[in-house]
Amino acid sequence: MPAYDTNNIFAKILRGELPCYKVYEDEHVLAFLDIMPRSPGHTLVIPKAPARNIFDISPDDYVHVARATHRISAAAMKAFNADGLTVQQHNEPASGQVVFHLHIHIMPRHHGVSLLPPASRKEDAKVLEDNAAKLIAALG
Ligand code: 5GP
Repeated sequence: MPAYDTNNIFAKILRGELPCYKVYEDEHVLAFLDIMPRSPGHTLVIPKAPARNIFDISPDDYVHVARATHRISAAAMKAFNADGLTVQQHNEPASGQVVFHLHIHIMPRHHGVSLLPPASRKEDAKVLEDNAAKLIAALG
């Protein structure tokens, strides 16, 4: 497996070199909206620890990401009036991973509505701003 690349997009977001629609942050994790959402409210949870994917993250760091995913999932159900929610995490290109800093996808779902294919379209800034505000409010 290739080594962790400190210049991946999410490492740049963590360092504040690129912007994001942040919804949650603590000592261990950052969560922000996917700019090409597969469903309204599609959120990404990442560890602050540098990890390419599940194969090089420490169990403790993975637990921090899982805890945040658990909390944000409950809030996303409310914020987006969802009927269900898909949690997904890709490891290596064969699985669909394209950004090589571990991230968990949280995708709110509605009955009868399929997920868009990955990276289908960049969402409007106003929609992303509104969705981030809704999720932040639901997180309390
Ligand atoms: P993967 O396929 O690696 O699991 O998912 C990478 C995700 O990152 C995709 O859902 C894609 O839409 C998202 N993404 C790619 N570039 C950016 C970016 O610059 N900002 C944000 N917020 N998401 C991104």
